[in-house]
Amino acid sequence: MQTRVLNEHDPAAVAAVVDVLQRGGVCALPTETVYGLAGRGLDDECVRAIYAAKGRPADNPVILHVGAVDDAWPLWVLSTVEERRAALLAQAFWPGPLTIVAEASDVVPAVPRAGLSRVAVRVPRHAFARAVAVALGEPFAAPSANLSGRPSPTTAADVLETLRGRIPLVVDGGACSAGIESSVVDVIGARPQLLRPGALSVLELKKVLPDLDVRRPGSAAHVDDASPGLRHRHYAPALPTLLVSEVDSLWSDDDVALVVDDVTAARLGPRAGFAAVLPAEPRGYARALYAALYRAERAQPARLAVLQVPDDEAWASVRDRLLRATA
Ligand code: AMP
Ligand code: MG
Repeated sequence: MQTRVLNEHDPAAVAAVVDVLQRGGVCALPTETVYGLAGRGLDDECVRAIYAAKGRPADNPVILHVGAVDDAWPLWVLSTVEERRAALLAQAFWPGPLTIVAEASDVVPAVPRAGLSRVAVRVPRHAFARAVAVALGEPFAAPSANLSGRPSPTTAADVLETLRGRIPLVVDGGACSAGIESSVVDVIGARPQLLRPGALSVLELKKVLPDLDVRRPGSAAHVDDASPGLRHRHYAPALPTLLVSEVDSLWSDDDVALVVDDVTAARLGPRAGFAAVLPAEPRGYARALYAALYRAERAQPARLAVLQVPDDEAWASVRDRLLRATA
């Protein structure tokens, strides 16, 4: 299959995506988090086509993307307290990089839920993604536009790195502004729960839901029943990758590609081998991380070493992804 690339500002781009989706196909498009692999979200066959293109395990549910806040409510059945939590979150963060999980209504078939009773929904902020949802007139599902297990793509070139020839169309919207996946919050239960740390910080989320349970995502029991996607290996570059506590001893080893922060790089000076130098601040680091992993791969080193980041709440999302990429 030939993979066509259209610019997001091409006047035919939205219609081209809608046409592929309405025929039951999938294509890659930009969102503010990472590039998504979109397909019609309320049709089991169309969602299966997404899983097939990505090689995604079928027990990993997808996020439904809608064009407006009002389009989210019919997808759920909510108690009064759940509805209040969802409304507070929606008011504060939608459109934006927040995914809300709640009990699915009967308009949501089994495959996008991966057989669970709950469904994940988000209103993206990215103008192109939202225009697609509006023009399509129904939710689209969109997991990250990469082969399952590989880093999420934050540029059209990085989508092509793993999906060229597997999908008919990629819409190029430049680099994603957040560069990391959405934060996922489950509004069911005694306390709302952070299922996946992401583009929004815990601090921002707690301002809106002070009783948010942020028990360290990654603890097995918690992850298994609540957020099945976190079970799988994720975000891994296609070369041996290590998380290291210092890079001083690797700095002169040209066979190792490095991902480091700019403060460390400035301290150690110029280096002959490949180094991706990222901002020493969590938002900037998150925005640049996945692209850096793909660049490091292309440098074809023997291995890749990523310098560990601080163990505090501000860095929680980045730490989560680094631990999974190097597990
Ligand atoms: P992504 O891979 O970025 O599309 O994100 C999907 C992730 O959202 C999954 O891996 C889960 O962690 C979470 N998620 C999606 N749907 C559900 C659901 N029904 N219940 C719990 N978590 C979900
Ligand atoms: Mg993904």
